[in-house]
Amino acid sequence: MTTKYDVVVIGAGPGGYVAAIRCAQLGLSTVCIDSYLDENQKPSPGGTCLNVGCIPSKALLDSSKHYEHLNGHLDAHGISVKGASIDIKTMIGRKQNIVRQLTGGITQLFKANKIDFISGKASLSKDNKVRIKLSDGSGHSEVTADNIILASGSVPFEIPSVPFDGQLIVDNAGALEFDKVPAKLAVIGAGVIGLELGSVWRRLGSEVVVLEAMDDLLGAADKEVSKVVGREFKKQGLDIRLGARVEKAKSTKTKVKLTYSWKDKEHEESFDKVLVAVGRKAYTDDLLTQDSGVSLTDRGQIQIDDKNRTTAPGVWAIGDAVEGPMLAHKASEEGIAVAERIKGGQMALDHNTIPWIIYTSPEIAWVGKTEQQLKEASIDYTAGSFPFAANGRALASGEGAGLVKILADTTTDRILGVHIVGPHASELIAEAVLAMECQCTAEDLTLTVHGHPTLSEAMHEAALSVHGKAIHKVNR
Ligand code: FAD
Ligand code: AMP
Repeated sequence: MTTKYDVVVIGAGPGGYVAAIRCAQLGLSTVCIDSYLDENQKPSPGGTCLNVGCIPSKALLDSSKHYEHLNGHLDAHGISVKGASIDIKTMIGRKQNIVRQLTGGITQLFKANKIDFISGKASLSKDNKVRIKLSDGSGHSEVTADNIILASGSVPFEIPSVPFDGQLIVDNAGALEFDKVPAKLAVIGAGVIGLELGSVWRRLGSEVVVLEAMDDLLGAADKEVSKVVGREFKKQGLDIRLGARVEKAKSTKTKVKLTYSWKDKEHEESFDKVLVAVGRKAYTDDLLTQDSGVSLTDRGQIQIDDKNRTTAPGVWAIGDAVEGPMLAHKASEEGIAVAERIKGGQMALDHNTIPWIIYTSPEIAWVGKTEQQLKEASIDYTAGSFPFAANGRALASGEGAGLVKILADTTTDRILGVHIVGPHASELIAEAVLAMECQCTAEDLTLTVHGHPTLSEAMHEAALSVHGKAIHKVNR
């Protein structure tokens, strides 16, 4: 028997579960299907983000930050702590509890919104038929709907010559579960995931070597930002080797020997653990039968138009499985937009105002264009910046590293990009996102009163600096 709904959502990550909730709020009968099972083989909606991504990584970043502070970082306050220690099992347990609390919250939200949830692996065939292999082993089920939303997410890229073994060579999920601090950890890839998880284990005592094939870390970031954070990471003891391409791995029972080319030479080095963090790819395994009518791009993503419609009528796709930045909030906003479109609404999503955030110390956040993108597009811009070293609140909390940089159109003064490295950059960027969403000029920010002493004053000063009028720095 096939059960008919108004909407079938495949995937309960931040794309799928948010889409399902908005569909239900709009009065559409909705089912959400997800195949993820936790370490106890229990369904755990929330996708990569809640189970092995955004939330658990932030939990460990927080624990490791506390530990690092207690280990000599409070001396300037006159606080000395002797014999601080960390119990990794407790730390991982705390992280698991947070994950359980949040995934349990999604189950509650599904119930409250009368959304049916099915744990199983879904496969879409023609005429919107969805066949589900149920996780509890009880067989198959079939559902259909006029509208299907594909939100199947992404999985880590593997380097074929450095295959994951789940023990010594791991992906993000593995690096969130180490049972002890690895003495020496290699991180392959200086992207968001590599830098966040590398920071966690370095703070806990690992010697961390980051091997990055490109000449810059954080390839998508503004070049000045990568330079500033590169210097800060180096000071912290994160050993980042740029231009180092990992070629192969050879494992013994307890060690992995990596071969990599760096500075025109071949190097061999042994590590206790290796985290491969070289990016992620859309996940569509077994999602589509041959007759589904849904096409993939040559990069393996689900092909969509500018309204998230796939090549099959009534089938939509969102989140990491489609083009665009692989970010949870991008997936969620696409989910909401598609739900509204199904109901006849016209919600648009501007990819240019999606913020990027990296939760290292210092934090990194940006929105809009980088200087290199503006130069490539021959757009005339004026840059204004302000260092946190001249911001009273940042200095009071001993976090003077970094800056705010604002890029504004030279002719119209419209804000084109905002780049922040520094304390609470993750929160400060919200002002910049709103400013860009409302098409503010740098002058609008200068005329906005910012409280004192706050970190947000650095944003105000950076905007003033665009016009050569910053108060607490010498304008050039
Ligand atoms: P996913 O979250 O991947 O969810 C897809 C779900 O669909 C999964 O549960 C999967 O099991 C299920 N599924 C797939 N195929 C099927 C099928 N055929 N049948 C049934 N179910 C299926 N982003 C941020 O914005 N901020 C961060 O701080 C951040 N930190 C991250 C840290 C790490 C370590 C990682 C790995 C990622 C991080 N991300 C972060 C990225 C973020 O997790 C993703 O962008 C986000 O999860 C994408 O959401 P999604 O709904 O598209 O897919
Ligand atoms: P991101 O896509 O932001 O997660 O970043 C992944 C990073 O991994 C990119 O900066 C790539 O240049 C880097 N990378 C990919 N393959 C290799 C490799 N074989 N050795 C070292 N770095 C790599």
